[in-house]
Amino acid sequence: MFENLTERLNQAFSRLKGRGKLSEADIDRALREVRLALLEADVNYRVVKDFVARVKERALGQEVMESLTPAQQVIKIVHEELIRTLGDKASPLDLSGPTPLAIVLVGLQGSGKTTTAAKLARFLKRRGRNPYLVAADIYRPAAIEQLKTLGQSLGLPVFEPQPGQSPPEIARLAMVQAKATGRDIAIIDTAGRLHIDEALMEELKAIKEATSPKEILLVADAMTGQDAVNMAKAFDEAVGITGVILTKMEGDARGGAALSIRAVTGKPIKFLGTGEKLEALEIFAPDRIANRILGMGDILSLIEKAQETFDQKKALELQEKLRREAFTLEDLRDQIRQIKKMGPLNQLLSLIPGMSKIKNLDSLGVDGKEFSRMEAIINSMTPEERRNPRILNASRKRRIARGSGTSVQDVNRLLKNFAQMQKMLKRVKKKGLRGLPFGPGT
Ligand code: GDP
Repeated sequence: MFENLTERLNQAFSRLKGRGKLSEADIDRALREVRLALLEADVNYRVVKDFVARVKERALGQEVMESLTPAQQVIKIVHEELIRTLGDKASPLDLSGPTPLAIVLVGLQGSGKTTTAAKLARFLKRRGRNPYLVAADIYRPAAIEQLKTLGQSLGLPVFEPQPGQSPPEIARLAMVQAKATGRDIAIIDTAGRLHIDEALMEELKAIKEATSPKEILLVADAMTGQDAVNMAKAFDEAVGITGVILTKMEGDARGGAALSIRAVTGKPIKFLGTGEKLEALEIFAPDRIANRILGMGDILSLIEKAQETFDQKKALELQEKLRREAFTLEDLRDQIRQIKKMGPLNQLLSLIPGMSKIKNLDSLGVDGKEFSRMEAIINSMTPEERRNPRILNASRKRRIARGSGTSVQDVNRLLKNFAQMQKMLKRVKKKGLRGLPFGPGT
C-alpha cells in the first residue's frame, strides 16, 4: 500500500534533512518533488494543486523558516495536510435509529461488493450485532450463490430472492424478514454493471426508497485510481452515497484514489479492503494512513489486525497452558496458523515504523514460507509425537521430513527452536520478563 508514493516523498524530504536553515528556493524545490510524487501516484490534479499550495503557505511562514529543524517542520506540515486531505477523522458507520436498519452496497461489477458485504457482516458480528446478508444481485446468479457460501462460512443468514422478484422488492421483503427474525442490520448487495447506466441508477434509487438505508456505500477498486474517484462522483450525484469502501488496497502502490476521493466528492472513505479473505477489512483512519504514507508505520492498525484475527478463546487457553507449562507443538502450530491468518508477513512488517524504508521486504526472507514449512513438519507428526517430541528418534524424523517435504535438518531446527522456546517460557514464568535474555533489568 502506497509504497511508490512513500519512496518518492522520502526522496523529496531527504534533501532537506541536515540543513540548518532553508531558503525559499529549497522549499520550492522540495515541493516540486512532492507535487510530482502525488501526480505520479495518480492523485487528482486539483487536489494536488490545493495540497501543495497549503503546504507552501505554511512552510514559508515562521514555523519553518525560524525553526532549528526545518526539514522536520516541513514533514510535520505535510503530515497534517495529508490528514486533512484524507478527511481529518475516521467516519464510523452510522448505525443509529430503530432497527432493522439497512446498509446498501453499490458499485460496478468486480469491484468487490459481494466480498465486502460478507466482510462488513463479519465486522459487525464481531461487534455484537446481528447482520443479515441480502442478495439483491439477480442478474449474476453466481453472486447469490457466492453470498450464500460466504454467509454460511460466517454462520450468518442470507436472504435469498425468489425467481421473478425485482431488486427493490427483494430489499423490501428482506427488511420485513430481518425484523421478523430479530436481525438488526441488513447488508444489501446490489447488482453491478460494467458501466454506469440509467437503468442501474433507477434500480438503486428504488432500493433506497424501499429501505431508507442509514448508509449507501460505494464499493470501488482502488487499483482503478481516478476511475474510482469518477465513479464515486457519478454514484453520489445519481443516488447519493454516504461513504466509500476502497477494495484491493494491498495491491495499490500509488494510492491516488485514497488520496482524492474525500477532497473531490466530500464523501468519507469508511473502510479499506486489503485482501480476499474476510478478515481483510480495515477501518479507514486518516491519521494512520498519513503515517503509513510517510513511512512512519502504523502500530495501531497492527494491533487491531491481531485483535481482529486472533481467537479470544484460544488466546485465553494459551495463557492457561503457558501457566501450566503445557505448551506443546500443537499449540505452536495454532500460533503459526493465527499469525498466517493476519495476512502476508511483508504487509504486516510495513506497519512497523521504519520498515517501509527497507526497499524489498521480501529479500529479508520473511515471505511466510518458513511458517508454512514449520506447519507442514508439525502436521506430519503423530499426535503422540506432538505432545512428546522426546520420542522422536532418527527414523521417526526421517519419516516426518519425507511427509512434510522437508529435510531432517529442518525437523531438527524446528525441535531445537521449540526446546528453546519452552526454556524461555519457563524462565519467564519464574522470573517474569526479567527472565528473558534481553528483558528489563538485564
Ligand atoms: P462484485 O462483482 O462487486 O460483487 O465483486 P466480488 O465480491 O465478486 O469480487 C471480485 C473479485 O475481487 C473477487 O475475486 C474477490 O476475491 C476480489 N476482491 C474483493 N475485495 C478484495 C480486496 O480487498 N483485495 C483483493 N486482492 N481482492 C479483492
